[in-house]
Amino acid sequence: MPVWAVVNQKGGVGKTTTAVNLAASFAQRGCKTLLIDCDPQGNATTGCGVEKRALGCTLFEVLTDCKPIAEAVVQTSVPNLFMTPSTLDLAGAEPALLGMVGRETVLREALEPARREYDWILIDAPPSLGILTINALAAADAVLIPMQCEFYALEGLSQLMHTIELVKKRINPSLRTAKVLLTMYDKRNRLSQQVEAELREYFGDLVSSTPIPRNVRLSEAPGFGDPAVVLYPSSPGSRAYGALADEVLSNA
Ligand code: ATP
Ligand code: MG
Repeated sequence: MPVWAVVNQKGGVGKTTTAVNLAASFAQRGCKTLLIDCDPQGNATTGCGVEKRALGCTLFEVLTDCKPIAEAVVQTSVPNLFMTPSTLDLAGAEPALLGMVGRETVLREALEPARREYDWILIDAPPSLGILTINALAAADAVLIPMQCEFYALEGLSQLMHTIELVKKRINPSLRTAKVLLTMYDKRNRLSQQVEAELREYFGDLVSSTPIPRNVRLSEAPGFGDPAVVLYPSSPGSRAYGALADEVLSNA
């Protein structure tokens, strides 16, 4: 059903934390959810407790070897949450994709059967605007942009919006920006408020009404191989991701 890509070419802004915890929150609300790890860093894979050494088929084989997506899906410890894991191998998919016909839409094609199988599909993109991110944007119905509430947050935003516009124009006309999410938000910090004000001016209602606070539980959870919303459900960060899931589902 809906396919959302979590995209921002800036590193460390909370893409993976958002993809993992939003996917788990959807799962907790009864949606059969597939999380696609589209980053060679494999952080979403680790964050869901999927053991990388034991993997047979990953997203790499799906993209480069036409393996069906179903072969690369693993069940996580969270009921209703499934994932397509990735390892550093995925870095090798970039040059392989560049030599392919229809290189921008390989992931979109691969996901076609999964659309019928899952209620939600979330794609965790890498920190670049390279071919993997273009594949994520081409496969998605909508983009979720996490923005870290820091000084340089807005830098690079116009490049990102330009890329989204180009993908929309040339490859995926129905792509839309669904949400801009404030991450690592500190309401006492003037900078956070300033970034929020600027984003609201630019994006209006697209800015999520639930900012994600800076919360150490969100950064601790990946070390235990479970999403924070499962491990520490009552922490402020988990509550915020739960509220975001409710916000998204109520508009879906
Ligand atoms: P990359 O661009 O490298 O893929 P990313 O955008 O996926 O990074 P994350 O990995 O989600 O970003 O987050 C970067 C770091 O910040 C991680 O150590 C994560 O645990 C931490 N982090 C993310 N969100 C929060 C938050 N709300 N509060 C505290 N720490 C956070
Ligand atoms: Mg990441």
